[in-house]
Formats: sequence, structure tokens, C-alpha cells
Amino acid sequence: MGERLLGVEEVRGSTPLSSTRFFILENARLEETMEEEYRFTEIEEKWKESWEKLGLNKAVDFSDKPKFYLLVMFPYPSGAGLHVGHVRAYVPADVVARFKRMKGFNVLHPIGYDAFGLPAENYAIENGIHPRISTEENIVTFRRQLKSLGLSYDWDREFATSDPLYYRWTEWFFEFLYKRGLAYEDKSFQWWCPHCKTVLANEQIIDGKCWRCDTPVEKKELKEWFFRITAYADRLLEGFDRINWPERIKSMQTNWVGKSEGTEISFKALGNDGEQYDIPVFTTRIDTIFGVTFLAIAPEHPLLSKLTTDDNKEKVSKYVEEALRKVDIERLSTEKEKTGVFLGTCAINPLNDEKVPMFVGDYVVYSYGSGAVMGVPAHDERDFAFAKKYNLPIRVVVSPDGNNFEINEAYVDDGILINSAEFSGLSSKEAQRSINSLIEEKGIGKGTIRYKMRDWIISRQRYWGAPIPVIHCPEHGAVLVPEDKLPVLLPDEVDFTPRGTGESPLANDEKFVNTKCPIDDKPGRRETDTQDGFACSSWYYLRYADPKNDALPFDRKKIDYWLPVDLYIGGAEHAVMHLLYSRFYIKAMYDAGLIGFDEPFKKLLNQGMILGADHQKMSKSRGNTVNPDEMIKRYGADTLRAYILFIGPLESDAAWSIDGINGAFRFVKRVWNIFIEVSKLKVDKTTEEEREVEVITDKYIQRVTNQLENFKFNTMISSFMEWLNYLYKISQEKPDIMGTKAFKESSVAFIKMISPVTPFIAEEIWHRFGFAESVHQSKWPVPKGIYKEEKTLIVVEVNGKLKDRIEVSLDSEEEEVKEAALQSDKISRLDIDFSKAKFIYVKNKLLNIVIKK
Ligand SMILES: [Zn+2]
Ligand SMILES: [Zn+2]
Repeated sequence: MGERLLGVEEVRGSTPLSSTRFFILENARLEETMEEEYRFTEIEEKWKESWEKLGLNKAVDFSDKPKFYLLVMFPYPSGAGLHVGHVRAYVPADVVARFKRMKGFNVLHPIGYDAFGLPAENYAIENGIHPRISTEENIVTFRRQLKSLGLSYDWDREFATSDPLYYRWTEWFFEFLYKRGLAYEDKSFQWWCPHCKTVLANEQIIDGKCWRCDTPVEKKELKEWFFRITAYADRLLEGFDRINWPERIKSMQTNWVGKSEGTEISFKALGNDGEQYDIPVFTTRIDTIFGVTFLAIAPEHPLLSKLTTDDNKEKVSKYVEEALRKVDIERLSTEKEKTGVFLGTCAINPLNDEKVPMFVGDYVVYSYGSGAVMGVPAHDERDFAFAKKYNLPIRVVVSPDGNNFEINEAYVDDGILINSAEFSGLSSKEAQRSINSLIEEKGIGKGTIRYKMRDWIISRQRYWGAPIPVIHCPEHGAVLVPEDKLPVLLPDEVDFTPRGTGESPLANDEKFVNTKCPIDDKPGRRETDTQDGFACSSWYYLRYADPKNDALPFDRKKIDYWLPVDLYIGGAEHAVMHLLYSRFYIKAMYDAGLIGFDEPFKKLLNQGMILGADHQKMSKSRGNTVNPDEMIKRYGADTLRAYILFIGPLESDAAWSIDGINGAFRFVKRVWNIFIEVSKLKVDKTTEEEREVEVITDKYIQRVTNQLENFKFNTMISSFMEWLNYLYKISQEKPDIMGTKAFKESSVAFIKMISPVTPFIAEEIWHRFGFAESVHQSKWPVPKGIYKEEKTLIVVEVNGKLKDRIEVSLDSEEEEVKEAALQSDKISRLDIDFSKAKFIYVKNKLLNIVIKK
């Protein structure tokens, strides 16, 4: 046998991946008589070339077949090459693409490169290699690796975002947004990474550190370009009803937008200059206004110095200095203790004219709301802790039943108002309405809506990005470069030495900078900042529909045919960046009539991470990384693909295991051994067991089809293993069965159906069976319906209470039952955040969903 020759250790003797799933058939008749070695490298090279010549994976514009647009998040072509994390997303997507083609769909499955970005520029600074050169080299490597995995992309549609043919349109979209009032320039304090020497968006700061390099961020005042994503806040929340996305991503975006309905109300305070000032505060709980015992204002509040008395100045300014060094996210963290410093002045509660002390507190953020909050210790956890710390009164004004009651912790629920003058006795909701109309009447406030989301800063002080097509004229200000002059090309020869002034290296290039104003032809200066890479990736999926168009970003007819994306597979880390920005771009285009849909991605799947064999995140420093090239060399792409699919449910993290890939390798070789044998036999026998083989074949046709349609890749591989083991077993017991029509038909169905998983070996065996066309052009098998899947009813409970009964296949695993339950009408209608739920599953009986209250 070839195993020893292949240099794979312990193939036969290693622990099986799962003893019930891999049958070790020592002394199996077939294996002993096998002569032909499984030469995967030869097979894979041969078919790779042949498919390319055949043009198998071309997507055809305007074909009569139903279309299916299957997208993967395109890679950043880093110097490290393809990572197994990419493989985790790309292989399942490829399986679906191949499956859909066999089901008769016209599939668009494209790939490209998100090629602008910091690593290439940093590499240029350190090694003197131009970002364009290193990026091009990396793309060559990526392309080779993607092809060696057998991914069935339509390579005619490949592009890189750093190609002028592409970024011309990224610039065009900047102008498009500008013309619609959705891009503007403003001066403001920005988060700045002192290492990357660039501005960062809020969502690019993680725990006060740069998302790329982990350096603590600082604040710096700069002139920046913004995209007005806040104009779409409501639309970004509203569109969720029409898309099939993981609940987790939807709730992350919802929290990011952070819409809250509340009240803006002004408190009055006397400044140290004798003037009276209005201090607007925002609250979502105006019903608790009679419980206010202090006011806290943000360290950035413009009135801070006016409201601080002389003897408190020193303490206050020291506190403010420290607070401004922290990032908003850190300041807002609910885990951190809330602190503040008394200003020495009081504000007046406009509803009861009571004086309440004022504090500066770093948990109040100036950009959110008005930069001042009313402190209601009895009804807010943070305020409660604050009041305890600074010895402030705690006054209960809402109770569950309208009676006075003692509290040991904040009572945050709605209830009946008490101690609230004429509003006592009203429910929280009624009180909110009445108080809002009273203060509106008095002209001291109003009901209002606030959002946490800020506008998106897109200026980057870097060279390797899409230029911002703007010329600054002393007279006309910022002027767009005329459309027919696009693209503004990045100059090739540039001094990458960071200027340390916060400016892009492009500012070093006088030839680039000095130009003429398009309006009056007088000297002007080109904008030297470039666009955030997320501007490039906000529209790339549209370009695949029409990648070569040099007159327009895309032809509307092609967009109407291909878009929206039917299935998008990629990492959840993009939840509040790429996935949010793309929705914003699409909504703006929809409003302008450029396209006819306003959600870009109909269905979204997030793949889990592949961890190292030590169950830790893969990293060079831990030495637990896995190189896909090496795996392909050692086991073949087919084995790597089968293993990646089998490693666990797509959405879950899973640890790499050498036993696991060895198990997958044994499985693929067993496929080879049995079907090469079948290919040599004549169909000239009949036996009693044929009917049984037909029924079992039908069972697996049903199962695998179902698993694929529901993206259950790991259980699908299990089904293939069971099916193969069955064929082995029966051929051992009744050797004649191999020469029957039923056995041959089962073999043909098996090879067809496994061809999306292991495309190379399937193609080789298919041709040995005597078929002339490619297996990838064959039709997906249709079950005859002679096998009836046994079903069972599962009771679904929420916190122990019966909510629904659902029908599932007998012996279904937890994941399948969970999904079926969450999709049932009765369960999905419940107003519950299932992402926080725990699931208790008793096989074939019960699923209890436990929600912590
Ligand atoms: Zn950084
Ligand atoms: Zn001008």
C-alpha cells in the first residue's frame, strides 16, 4: 500500500478521529487486493489544468438559469500567505458553489484581493520594498494557493482594490457620497495610533489599543474626512427584517447604532462669572427626574471651567487631564468603578427647583448625548455606586407597586411613581409621556432620540490607500477632482519616511501635492490623506458583476441580474465595520437610484476560528500555526478540504488535530480504494441484497442533500463516512454485490455527491467509471423516495415552560435541533435574545432553552 511510501506517520495505527465514525477495516478484502496507489499530487495537478482549460467555473451574465451569487470575504494578501482561517471559510463556500452548479444554478463565485493597507506600507518602510511590488508578489502566492485548494472561482473576474482600474471607482464613490451630502471635512479630536501614525475609527480601537498593532491610542486634533453614516442610523436598524443574518451580528450592529428614545432637559447653574448657564442633559428615564441627587458632566464639557469654583480648580483639572487619556470604550465600561470630582457648584432641577451638586465624571462621554447626565442613584446601578462612594442621597421615586420601599441596590425596572409630586401614581411609561409634554410646554426640554454611532472617519495619513479626490483651493476650499480626471493616481516614487506630523507620505511629493484648482485654475493643493481600506471593501462585491467596466463602476443591468449576494461567508470580526459600512453604501446608492435593492447580503454565515492543536489561537510566537501548502503537499487538497469540513460546525471554533487530518486522509484513501475497484468491474450480477443497497443509497442522497442545504458540513462528512462504511461492509459480506446495478448506482451517486468536497479524486474516479464529461458538470442526484427518514417529536421549552413541539429526524444532534427550534414560528416570535441563552438537549425528547433573567 502507498501509505508508507507517502511518509505519513501512523496512518494505520493512529487514534481514529472518532472511533464510531472511522471504521478501521484491518484485513479488509478490498484493501489487500488493491494495487493502485492513490497519487494525489499527480491527480490534483492533472485536473486543475484540465478544469482551467474547460472554463468550468465561469459565471454567465444573463443566463436563463436561476442565479446564485456566493461570496467570500476577500483576503488581504499578506506576506504570510493563505492561513487555515481562510481555508475554513473558502472551502465550505466552494462546496456550496459546486453543489449549486450541479443543482442547475448559474453561480457567481468570485475572488479578489483587499490589497491596500498598512502592513504593505510598514513593510516598505522597514525593507524598502514598494507596497505595490510586495502586494503583487503576495497576490501571486495567494492565487497559487487558492488554485491548489481546488477552489472553483471565476478567475476572469479577479481584481485587486489597489489596481487603478478599481480604485478609480472607489474615488468615484467618494465623490458620489460627497455630492449627496454624505461626505464632509471637519476638524476634531481623533484617536491616533502613535505606532501606525494614523487616525483610527472608534471601531478600530480595542480596549484602548490599536486594532492592528496593540499600541495604546492617543488623541490628536486633525482635519479629517467623514462619511455621514449617522444619516442612515434608522435605516441600518430597520433593514434587519429582510435579511437572514446571525442574530449575534444583528445585535452587535444594533448596539453599535445605539438608538435610545429619551428626553433632553435643561438644568440651570450659576457660573463662577455670575452668569446663569443652561446645562442640557439626556435621559431615557425622565420618569425618575424627582430622584435626581447629582449631575455629572463630561471632562470635555465646554462649560466645565465656568462651573468649577476656584478652590476646586486644581483637583478638577488634574482629574480631567487623566480622563482625556482614556478611550471612550474604556470610560464607558460597566465593569470599571465610576469616579468624579465635585465642582463646587450646584445645578437646579427644573421640576422641583432642588439644588443638586455637580461633578465631573469620566463615565460621561461628550460625544454621546449632551455631555451631561442626571444622577439617579435609586434607579441606576452606576449612579447607585457613585452615590455610595461620594455619600450622596438616594431617593426612591419608582416602586413596583406604588408603595414606599427600602432598597439595597438600584431598582432599575419600570414601576409606579412615588415621591414625584403630581406624577405620583402614574406608571413609568405614562409619567414619561406626561413629563415630556409638561417640559415641552414650559420650553425647558423635549422628547428626543439619540444614537451612539458617530460618523465614519475615512481619512488615513498613509500612502497605500485609495486617494481622496479633492483639491484644496485657497479661495474655493475643498473642490472635487472632475469625474473625467479620475483616478487620481498614487505616484509610484514616494519617500515613505513617516513625517511624524500626522501627514501622509504623499505630502513629501511636491509634484503630487501642487496642482491647480479645477474651478479657477489657480494653484491648489491635493488632499494627501487616503481613504480607509473599508471604503474599498464597501462596494467590491458589486464590481464582480462587471469587473472590466471602464466607463462606469458597473452596468446596472448586470447588477440587477446578479445582486444582491445570496450567501456571504466571512468572519464575525467585521460585524461593526465592513458589514455595517457596506450596508451604508448600498442604502446611499439605492436612494440615488443607482441600484434596485437596499441590503447587500441576503444570507450571512460566520465561520468559527481554527485554533492550534493546543486549543490556543494560532500565532507564529506560539508555534502552533498550520501551513495549508504543507498540508496539501503531505495529504493532498482533497484531504485538507474534507478535514476542514469535518472539524466541527461551521460557526464554531475548532482545534486542529493531526489525528483528525490523518483520519480524513484514511477516509479519502478508502474512497479511492473501493471505487477504483468498482470502476474495474462489469455490471453483470444480480443479488438479493440489491433492494437494500437501493434503499440505503436513497437514504444518503436525502441526508447529504439536506445537510448541504442547511450548511451542516461536518455532519455531511459523517454521512459520507457511514455510507462508505456500509458499502464496504456489504461488499465484504456479499462479494457479488459489487457487480450489481444497485451497487454501481450507489457508487455513481456517491462520487457525484462527494465531488464538491473532494473535487479532484471525484473527477479521477468519475472518468475511471467511463464518463466523458466532468463530474462537476453532472446533475445532482434526486432521491427516489424509497427511504423514509424516521422522525420524532421534540418538546421545546423556554425556562422549563412548554413553548412548541418540533419534528426532527430520529437521533438528530443538538445543533440540528437547536436550529430547527429557533426557526420554528412559535419560538422565533418570542421576544428573547437567544444569543445569551443556554441549551439543554435530551436526545429525541427535549430541548430546554434557559434564559438568565
Ligand atoms: Zn497601530
Ligand atoms: Zn479655486
